[in-house]
Amino acid sequence: MIVLPAEVYPTRGSRGAEPGSVEPAYHTDMDRLVGGLEAGGSKFVCAVGTGPDDIRAETRFATTTPEATIGRAVAFFTEQAAGAPLAALGIASFGPLDLDPRSPTFGVITTTPKPGWRQVDLAGPLRRALGLPVAIDTDVNGAALAEHRWGSGRGVASLVYVTVGSGIGGGALVHGRPVHGLVHPEMGHLRVPHDPVRDPFPGACPHHGDCLEGLASAPALAARWRQAPETLPEDHPAWELQAHYLALGLANVILVLSPERVVIGGGVMARARLYPLIRAKLASLLGGYLQTPALGEGIDDYVVPPALADRAGVLGAIALSQAAVS
Ligand code: ZN
Repeated sequence: MIVLPAEVYPTRGSRGAEPGSVEPAYHTDMDRLVGGLEAGGSKFVCAVGTGPDDIRAETRFATTTPEATIGRAVAFFTEQAAGAPLAALGIASFGPLDLDPRSPTFGVITTTPKPGWRQVDLAGPLRRALGLPVAIDTDVNGAALAEHRWGSGRGVASLVYVTVGSGIGGGALVHGRPVHGLVHPEMGHLRVPHDPVRDPFPGACPHHGDCLEGLASAPALAARWRQAPETLPEDHPAWELQAHYLALGLANVILVLSPERVVIGGGVMARARLYPLIRAKLASLLGGYLQTPALGEGIDDYVVPPALADRAGVLGAIALSQAAVS
C-alpha cells in the first residue's frame, strides 16, 4: 500500500514499524470511519465504514469514462464526508498502477488495455477533492489484505491471494504488508510450461500469448473450448488442464514467496471441483521437496477459497484506508 502525499496529509507513520519494533509492521486503526473505493474495469464500488460488519453506506456503478466514473466517486465520498468525517480513503484498483511515490505518474493507471483508461490519474482527483490521506494499491493486494484481516487469511503473516476470472491476478502479503517493488506483483503473467501437443491453444494474452492468464483465464477457457466456462460439464477435460496450469502457477509463487496460505477465488473457481484437483497437482509438482505439513496432510487448509467472496475488493480498500491512518 502506498499513501500519498505524506508531506501534505500526515498519516501518522503508516509506512512501517519503528526501528527495532518486533510488532508486525502493519498496525491499523480499525475503529476510524474511512472510505474505500474498489475501482474495477467493469464497476466501481464505493463504501464508508470500518469493516465487513459495519458498512454504513455503499454505492456501485458501471465503469464508463474516467471523468464520469471518478466524478461519481468524488460525489459519493464528498456527500458522505459531509455527514460524518472520514479519516482517509483507500483505493484498490485494477492496473497496472504506478505505485512509486517518486514517480511523476504516481497513483496513475498505466498500461491497461481498457479503452480510455491508459495514463489516467485515479488517486489525484480524489485526494484533491476530498482533502484526505489517500492510500492506493492493486485490487488484489487490497483483497489479500481484506482476507488477511477478516477472511480466509486470518492467523498467518504471509499470504498470497489469487483471482481467476476475466483475467488472473495475484496479491501478496509478506509479514502482513502488501508486496511492491519495481512495480507490483503481476502473477497472472507468469510464464508456465505449455505443451502444444497436449494443448494446441496458443493462449489469449495480448502481451504474452501463453502466459498463465493467456492459458487459464475465463476468456482463455472460452476461446480454447468454444463455449462459456460455466457451461462446461464436470467431467470435461478442460478442468484437468485448468487445474494443471493453476497448480503450475501456484507452485512458482509458493517457491518464490513461501506464503503460509494461498487464497484462490474468482469466477472460474466457482467450479468447486478445481480445488481438490489443484491441491493434488500442486503436491505432485512440488514433489515432496518442501517438507511441510501444509503441502501434505494439511493442504486442504493451505489452498483455500476466499471467505469474503465479491466483497474482498471494497473491503480491501477499507483495509488500505485504515492502514493509512494507523
Ligand atoms: Zn500475459
